[in-house]
Amino acid sequence: MSRASSAALRLAKHKLDGGSLGDHELERLVRDYTNGDVDDGAMTQWLHAVCTAGMTIDETTALTRAMVASGETIDWSYLNGPVVDKHSTGGVGDAVSLIAVPLAAACGARVAKLSGRALGHTGGTLDKIECVPGARVELSIEEFKAQVEVVGCAIAAASVDLAPADKKLYALRHETGTVASIPLIAASIMSKKIAAGAPAIVLDVKVGSGSFMREITEARELARTMVEIGSRLGKRVRALLTAMDAPLADAAGDALELDQALLVLEGGGSVRLREISCSMAGAMLETCGVAGDGSGHALAESALRSGAARDTFAKLLVAQGGELDRFDRSFPIGADVVAAEDGYVASIDAGMIGETVALAKRGRRPADASRIGVQVVRRIGDAVAAGDAVLRYIGAEPHPMNLRLLNQAVKVGKSRPAESPLLLGVVW
Ligand code: URA
Repeated sequence: MSRASSAALRLAKHKLDGGSLGDHELERLVRDYTNGDVDDGAMTQWLHAVCTAGMTIDETTALTRAMVASGETIDWSYLNGPVVDKHSTGGVGDAVSLIAVPLAAACGARVAKLSGRALGHTGGTLDKIECVPGARVELSIEEFKAQVEVVGCAIAAASVDLAPADKKLYALRHETGTVASIPLIAASIMSKKIAAGAPAIVLDVKVGSGSFMREITEARELARTMVEIGSRLGKRVRALLTAMDAPLADAAGDALELDQALLVLEGGGSVRLREISCSMAGAMLETCGVAGDGSGHALAESALRSGAARDTFAKLLVAQGGELDRFDRSFPIGADVVAAEDGYVASIDAGMIGETVALAKRGRRPADASRIGVQVVRRIGDAVAAGDAVLRYIGAEPHPMNLRLLNQAVKVGKSRPAESPLLLGVVW
């Protein structure tokens, strides 16, 4: 075993014994793991120790700093303007980035958004952009910067050169069941956001069955940790805690969510998706200084109403090679999931819908997988009669197991449920 791997094992033991790790120890650990001097086995022991014993905010900040230092960072200061980034911890029917990014750009912010792909049961913004024929998301850092300067916004894949330590660590965490740790998640997300260079960052921390944080207490702790890391590393960060028990849009699935985003940008669509998109864009405008505190939401709404956000999204797609008029917005019905009795839709489980879509996509060609999804025909609180469609599976030949899961996702009750809020809190 290498000396670096033995040192990693000593750090793991020290952590399990209740000790804390210093900045230099974490810096060396991350550097040696990224270089290949610490092997996966030793690093896994350290990850398990962190999952068990946690990390202080000093340690989490040092880990983030070390992951940022493992690669390049983008410097936007030459633009001399308000630059902002946005990140979602992941949800179902979460097409917010497709709306909030052009919306904030249409109001005068420069939005430099690096996105990810689908993870587990949650959708990925890049997969949704790629539903537009010809659209590219693999931009070089130079292309990304030029597009933010000219169009005002870009949505691209994180470059291999930004926070490479996170890429390697994330893959190991995925394999070794060490994802579910608030300090590790916070450092992973913030390292990428800090390397991407925007001085202002807005985080959408999702809470509920369709997200990775099931409880508001853990979501708030994650939000606080990320905001604190950002402020210690010189960023203005705001986190919005938003509900993810039911799908946010009226559909889940890549092409369906792109369609949902277009509907909102065209002035209609899901009220919930529209509301959270305006809250997110408003927070982005306030955090980067385009709007005063409390006035961002109204500014965002006006850019949505005027069509400016839709035009900016069209420009973003053209700049990335997309031909929106070739995007097929018709979705053939695979099967309906119906109410078993008369009453009101009491709940629609976002987690089960996300899992159904992820399962149904498995093993299909990307072009076919992206057209699979679930539409929400009746929302929570709607009155239904037995036999009425509540959910609609989109895609050919649905597997009976997928339909069973969708059936379990819907609950019908005798009384109309109280409306629950979408925005659960703000941390800054
Ligand atoms: N998203 C990330 O980027 N990292 C995590 O650890 C979890 C979600």
